[in-house]
Amino acid sequence: MCLTCDIIAGKVVPAGGIIYQDDWIILHHCIDINIAGYLIVSPVRHVETYGDLHEAEIRKIGVLTKDITAILSEFNGVEKIYLASFGEETAHFHAHIFPRYKWIIDHHAQDVCLGNKIDGAKLLSICREKYKVEGQIMENDGIRDVVAKVRNRLRKKLGLQDKILQA
Ligand SMILES: [Zn+2]
Repeated sequence: MCLTCDIIAGKVVPAGGIIYQDDWIILHHCIDINIAGYLIVSPVRHVETYGDLHEAEIRKIGVLTKDITAILSEFNGVEKIYLASFGEETAHFHAHIFPRYKWIIDHHAQDVCLGNKIDGAKLLSICREKYKVEGQIMENDGIRDVVAKVRNRLRKKLGLQDKILQA
């Protein structure tokens, strides 16, 4: 059992649907954290470490991540994009693309700010704990709108309309 493999097989559908998939990689919204634009990029192949990736997968993940960070950076209130990979809950290699919104700092400044420095790892950890929800709650307008916007902007960037799956 692997959550990412289940998503690739269509057994689990992330909120808003798959944003992008080709023969190598897949991009979708985080399955259970209710923060719009928190995306996950993974190789289609089940591998468990970055070192196991083929160069083609690394290139694909790198370029897609660059495109996605550019797209998310333009969204209202997004101040920074975090990139991270842990593999503690889901072994299938995946990278977290996390938009740090101004409202997150406004709500959690006391927990994540030390003077004028922000503890990014702690912020991500707090968000993953406080905004974790069960399946259907993720299907809300905020998530669906952002997923649709990312899909449309990525489609324009890539010019590969046939390869972008609809929700
Ligand atoms: Zn897998």
